[in-house]
Amino acid sequence: RAKEAGRNRWTVFDASMRDAVRERLEIEVALRAAVAQEQLSIAYQPIVELPGGRPAGAEALVRWEHPVRGWLGPNMFIAVAEDSNLISALGAWVLRESVRQLARWRAGGVVDEDFWLSVNVSPRQLGDAAFAERLAATLRQAGVPPASLVLEITESVMIEGSDLAERVLVDLRALGVRISVDDFGTGFSALGYLRRHPVTGVKIDRSFVSGLGASAEDEEIVRAVVAMSSALHLSVVAEGVETEAQRDVLVSLGVPLAQGWLWGRAVPAERFERDRVGERVPARSD
Ligand code: C2E
Ligand code: MG
Ligand code: MG
Ligand code: MG
Repeated sequence: RAKEAGRNRWTVFDASMRDAVRERLEIEVALRAAVAQEQLSIAYQPIVELPGGRPAGAEALVRWEHPVRGWLGPNMFIAVAEDSNLISALGAWVLRESVRQLARWRAGGVVDEDFWLSVNVSPRQLGDAAFAERLAATLRQAGVPPASLVLEITESVMIEGSDLAERVLVDLRALGVRISVDDFGTGFSALGYLRRHPVTGVKIDRSFVSGLGASAEDEEIVRAVVAMSSALHLSVVAEGVETEAQRDVLVSLGVPLAQGWLWGRAVPAERFERDRVGERVPARSD
């Protein structure tokens, strides 16, 4: 009986593994078509100044309307894209599209000249020697200054990154694009890496922000990141701010920029635009 149960368990495990492989393959095939046919879209989430809440920039976050499953968040498909080489085409599309969107917003007066866009970049994209050159061309064609673009990289790029990725980062900095370390504090965070790599900012991961107001430890971690960033002349954004209590602690710690549901979720460009315009044009009260 035990043997039988064991075999059944194995069978179940085996079947679920097979389903996972099938699901992944199915996502990969559909994603390949979606990338080729440009069926992805981008949602924009404001990054605001503290304490006032004025949007200083936004993060571009990719979305995919799957033909059967409906809207999918990047956690459902970025890993598949990274494992299947689709990430280069996907990432190039996200960059091109968000730079063009920024150009339209600038031309239409929807955003100020100093408004910037943050775009996530996978480690694999930095393994391409022509990455900076192509991005320079994209920016030039759109008429967007390189300083209006922030590339968000992960700590793993700095730690496991190749010499090539390192050179691409140097090229990007020479171009004038800014580079921020995303989810800061969740990786290895060896501080020496920040000094040795051409990064201009860090984003404090949501996992440290969520406890603010309740956890003294999280508050000390954020305080330390702020002190370190100021010493190294790095910009700081706090991610995933959901409550006023969290915001108040961030303000008291001197964090200058924040992003989170407290100010707004990631929304399609048209919606982002409506919200921005609504903000600038005071509602008539007649
Ligand atoms: P990320 O770069 O750390 O982006 C922040 C994530 O936190 C986003 O999830 C955003 O919607 C979510 N978020 C923002 N504010 C809050 C909040 O107050 N509370 C909570 N609970 N969540 C909040 P999203 O859009 O699902 O993206 C997940 C991750 O997928 C991103 O994390 C990023 O690593 C990756 N990603 C997104 N777009 C791209 C892309 O175009 N290329 C690449 N390579 N990765 C991307
Ligand atoms: Mg990010
Ligand atoms: Mg992040
Ligand atoms: Mg994150």
